[in-house]
Amino acid sequence: MKRGVLARWAAHLPLTPRTPHLTLGEGDTPLIAAPTLARDIGCAELWLKFEGQNPTGSFKDRGMVVAVAKAVEAGAHSAVCASTGNTSASAAAYCAAAGVRCNVVVPEGKVALGKLAQAVAHGARIVVLRGNFDAALSRVREIAQRTGIALLNSVNPHRIEGQKTAAFEIAEALGEVPHTVALPVGNAGNISAYWRGFCELGPRRPVMLGFQATGAAPLVSGAPIAEPETIATAIRIGNPASWKTAVEAQRDSGGLFAAVTDAEILAAYRRLSSEAGVFCEPASAAPVAGLLRLAQEKRSFAGQTIVAVLTGHGLKDPQSAIDAAAEIGPAIADDIGTLEAALQ
Ligand SMILES: *Cc1c(COP(=O)(O)O)cnc(C)c1O
Repeated sequence: MKRGVLARWAAHLPLTPRTPHLTLGEGDTPLIAAPTLARDIGCAELWLKFEGQNPTGSFKDRGMVVAVAKAVEAGAHSAVCASTGNTSASAAAYCAAAGVRCNVVVPEGKVALGKLAQAVAHGARIVVLRGNFDAALSRVREIAQRTGIALLNSVNPHRIEGQKTAAFEIAEALGEVPHTVALPVGNAGNISAYWRGFCELGPRRPVMLGFQATGAAPLVSGAPIAEPETIATAIRIGNPASWKTAVEAQRDSGGLFAAVTDAEILAAYRRLSSEAGVFCEPASAAPVAGLLRLAQEKRSFAGQTIVAVLTGHGLKDPQSAIDAAAEIGPAIADDIGTLEAALQ
């Protein structure tokens, strides 16, 4: 049985005897080998940390379980978050389990269907804002400050605390810290959390590579982007809230931020599902796209163990999978000969 993040990593988390024992079985996600991608990247081993296997299908659950438990401990009866989708799905599920009223504010028109379905199913109140994620986050931060309602975005330090546990799992599973860790970067909370986790583990630390989409790459250009655009909606963010800590992670680890095009993201997304057997959402393919790009640009990963963090499940965004695939033909007659011919 999975113990969940709070029970398993209690000694490393800001828990008290009054923190409720909340869990939906988050954490303990697998490292999956991807040998054909490793060959093309030129590393010794490539491991996919598949965070899509968390209860609501993304890494957000690791931090959300801590944030919601701490909100309950503080006496909260309702909570709010802004979301590109996965934060709202996770917040809605953990709030449901904890008996907290959940409010989510999503940007108009850009949220993958599966994520919205989850928030609806878990009974969250959903408000669609005419504006992008950055606008939604700035509004809910103001509302939280004004009303005292619990804020569940990754600006909540408990989110980062929970998310850092993925670094512990990686070191434990490999028996050592990998040479390189590659992540997609949107609001930049996750790369900050991994870096914190590795720093708490000891002096041996990985090089942190953060990948953004070309149309939403403020950490690459060095300035916020007013109208971020990418098919990878989970990282369609123009002004990351954890900018400073993400830059520290990059600088102190000797890493880098780089941008990958939507075409590169989709190519990596297809390779992950068709070669490695791992179906992630488009944003999650960005680190693999980025590693392939760096290898093409002659950066050497020879002899390295690399972990790419696949942040969310492919079923979150079925439309992207259908759009990226070869066309499915029309229905055929229910006839053995016709079927045999169709399968040739
Ligand atoms: C939230 C999210 C990201 C971005 O993480 P940040 O902490 O905002 O940088 C990437 N991929 C998926 C699937 C996400 O849900």
